[in-house]
Amino acid sequence: MPYRAITGIAMFDLRSDTVTTPTQAMLRAMLESPTGDDGFGEDASTNLLEERCSEMFGKEAAVFMPSGTMSNQIALRIHTRPGDEVIVDESYHFNVYESAPSADLGGVSLCTLQCDKGILTPDAIDAAIDAKCRDPRYARPTLVSLENTINYRNGRVVPLPDLQRIHEFARTRGMGVHLDGARLFNAMVASGTSAREYGAVADTVSVCFAKGLGAPFGSMLIGSEALMAQARYYRKSYGGALHQSGHLAGAALHALEHHIDRLAEDHQSAAALARLLAEHKSVRVDLEEVQSNIVILDTAPSGVSAAALASAAQGQGLLVTPIAKHKVRFVTHMGVNVEDCISAAKIFAGTLDQFASA
Ligand SMILES: *Cc1c(COP(=O)(O)O)cnc(C)c1O
Repeated sequence: MPYRAITGIAMFDLRSDTVTTPTQAMLRAMLESPTGDDGFGEDASTNLLEERCSEMFGKEAAVFMPSGTMSNQIALRIHTRPGDEVIVDESYHFNVYESAPSADLGGVSLCTLQCDKGILTPDAIDAAIDAKCRDPRYARPTLVSLENTINYRNGRVVPLPDLQRIHEFARTRGMGVHLDGARLFNAMVASGTSAREYGAVADTVSVCFAKGLGAPFGSMLIGSEALMAQARYYRKSYGGALHQSGHLAGAALHALEHHIDRLAEDHQSAAALARLLAEHKSVRVDLEEVQSNIVILDTAPSGVSAAALASAAQGQGLLVTPIAKHKVRFVTHMGVNVEDCISAAKIFAGTLDQFASA
């Protein structure tokens, strides 16, 4: 169903999977969810959501967070001390969007690697550690942060064995492992890997309810009792502790029950979109990498900037995000179906043709 955007024109909004609004059924579930003051541990729905998530991922505890960024930033605090190094691939959200808070709030530096397919390997991590003097007077690499699916890599799904290898290796080097799973539910549906299997390859896992799951709010940080006790401390000090969060937890509970399996449709839509866009000569797309709900077009061959293409597409009723000078991102979600995505691909192809003939 086409989106009606602020401009009042029928729009296909593929900027992000965060643009969805709650369904009627979700709103009803929110209304019916009991609430109380979570500051006193008395919000029944939040308690239930935290229990359900910790159980799902095979961990002891979980903490309901306002956003994925706060989950990541608090994970960083509980795994590191100021001055430490955090190892990530350069394509991860931690580097692309959270380098400032990681330095500003966490006081750490990111050690960014450039790994094939954005997938960290023990060898690459080992080499990064060995490349510097690791005398105790200098920076300690204390955390490896993973991402699955990888947003900036067309939503690539990281295979479980790769994650297992990194986790084993990090353990032998005394480093913690965090898994930024803002789209981990997409990875679960695309690969058939269970939440428990993903939970076993990281000390902390964060998941988001406001991405593909279609809830209006929230993320969950999941881990051991001891780590989550520290997470509660930092959540309070960052101003992210909640009071009557039950209605929001109710939306997330509804999403966990009803919106996971349907992510397969978003993946089919993204695949259809990518196949159509790949036919256009003036853009490139790595079809092998499109494994979930994200398609990133390299627009360099067209000679037109991503921003100019996005702006022209908007005039034709299609919203997309220019994420770099020559990269346009399309994200599928519950607000668009496969026909909408086929229409979106046609609109974008038309936009490219316009520039080619101009
Ligand atoms: C969206 C996203 C986040 C941050 O989530 P917010 O709720 O927008 O703060 C973190 N990591 C990844 C990979 C994301 O895609």
